[in-house]
Amino acid sequence: MVFRPPTWVPELPVEPPANLSIADFMLDERYGRCPLEESRPPFTCGLSGKRYSAAEVRDRVDLLARGISQQIGWSPQHGTQWDKIGLIFSFNTIDNLPLMWAIHRLLGVVCTVNPMSSVSELRYFLKASGCGAIFTSRSLLATTQKAAKTYGIPDSRIFIIEDIGAVVDGQPPCPDTPTSYLTLDSLIDLGEKISPLPTVEWNDREGETRTAFLSWSSGTSGVPKAVMLSHKNVISQVLQVCTFESQSRGGLKHHVSLGLLPQSHIYGLTVICHASAYRGDEVIVLPRFTLATCLSAVQRYGITSMFLVPPIIISMLRNQEVMKTYDLSSIKFIYSGAAPLAPGLTDQLSTVLPQCPIRQGYGLTESCGNFCHTVPQDVWLGSSGSLLPGCEAKLVSPVGREITTHGKVGELLIRSPSACMGYYKSPTETNELYQDGWMKTGDQALVRLSPKGHEHLFIVERIKELIKVKGYQVAPAELEAHLLEHPAVADAAVVGVNHDTDGEVPKAFIVRSTAYKDVEMATLARQISRHVEKHKAKSKRLKGGVEFVNAIPKNASGKILRRLLRDRERRIRAL
Ligand code: AMP
Repeated sequence: MVFRPPTWVPELPVEPPANLSIADFMLDERYGRCPLEESRPPFTCGLSGKRYSAAEVRDRVDLLARGISQQIGWSPQHGTQWDKIGLIFSFNTIDNLPLMWAIHRLLGVVCTVNPMSSVSELRYFLKASGCGAIFTSRSLLATTQKAAKTYGIPDSRIFIIEDIGAVVDGQPPCPDTPTSYLTLDSLIDLGEKISPLPTVEWNDREGETRTAFLSWSSGTSGVPKAVMLSHKNVISQVLQVCTFESQSRGGLKHHVSLGLLPQSHIYGLTVICHASAYRGDEVIVLPRFTLATCLSAVQRYGITSMFLVPPIIISMLRNQEVMKTYDLSSIKFIYSGAAPLAPGLTDQLSTVLPQCPIRQGYGLTESCGNFCHTVPQDVWLGSSGSLLPGCEAKLVSPVGREITTHGKVGELLIRSPSACMGYYKSPTETNELYQDGWMKTGDQALVRLSPKGHEHLFIVERIKELIKVKGYQVAPAELEAHLLEHPAVADAAVVGVNHDTDGEVPKAFIVRSTAYKDVEMATLARQISRHVEKHKAKSKRLKGGVEFVNAIPKNASGKILRRLLRDRERRIRAL
């Protein structure tokens, strides 16, 4: 059974064009974007208020492309795309997206890297991408220098992105930056001195095969792989998101979006930044999460769309007293994505912000962002909503048989014009990703029919994360959602640990809520185990135990890094 968007989802207004680059699509009014003079400034620094108008952004992109070309010789007419891979290792700034579009102007490839990466992780990304230039936040220069040295990337190919916001505790982490490094502004100055770059005509299908981004898959269960996203993939995703959302604008012509989620991750990159800029909306860019900066940005800029991930929602709910001290009345919508949002959290947040529907979206780097989403008038707890225009889905059993009824779990296979081209330099993994033209998501899901007769997609768990208890599958996400309903649990993660007779059993890692800090741990552990025993099947009992921790390890997009917990557990058990 193939699932498609419900009839109320508008069809794509045009076939996503494949004969132009993202830079042209995003900055040239001929391709449907909101006219520049009607657009709000696309990116505003939430800390300093610095911003450029949409027309200034277009000009800066052009000058930046010229400056890069002058400095390191990249040009639209010369070299293959793989000779022009620019790696961006930066906190969120107002300059990151313009920089990406400038690299696209040069027919180069942008490789985005999580700014929280360590030196050894950055080395891995440098080696795996084979990039020819690095653009880095000033505050990340020390890390960049150490990693770049290993791969012989000279200082003349390292450029600085100013990021006042990443200053930690009033101290720039790299106060003695050598002045020899060129900044983006100095590249723009350089660009002003040289003549415009030649335009290169694209053939009708070029955008389908040219890589725009190398974006790293989350790597929660293995090493990250570089996902190749074409220009057409990104253009399709922008059109899909904007068309889907066109009916849910809450009566506003322009939205002001929270731009806190990393621009290096697909959610921040396409769903927040690209789609907002195309619609003429404004993104309030924040480099790092603190509840105070996030809430004061809402109050200062009148943010209407809160793009969040579950850990931020957890932090908000833990600090409701702090939330009450800010004026949050501008918020119209709350979006959650990138990781499962426990229904209990949705309930609690609806009580704190009753005026805002909480909408969940599901997608993956390989789908270039969103694949499905809820709409405000049809929110269903736990559901990830309806398919975006141009998307198709089907579910298959572990032996590959197609599931033909609602309510039955299977692996989710998808088709979408935004589905990636494969993994960079990994033909075997790319072959495994696709099956008869369908992309395998690696996620277990089911489709249910809502009382309104709409098909909703529910994500159960990543198949690789499932715990096998006596052959039964137990989804950590389900247990984590249930644990979060216990008042003593501020945060939770569940992993499978080896067991003599059952194969694997669930073990819970728990962060205690402050109100329960004085309760004896053994007593609390028993209460928490009983909370599971009372409501869940026998296979889901926490036979692996309950351990209290200070924090649950999560990546930048909010996913629980269960791999780290499993490795730690193995090490302890091996002692
Ligand atoms: P990434 O490539 O980092 O975006 O990770 C994609 C994975 O995140 C998916 O394959 C899912 O396992 C998970 N994910 C994303 N959105 C959701 C959601 N709404 N509910 C559950 N899991 C999600």
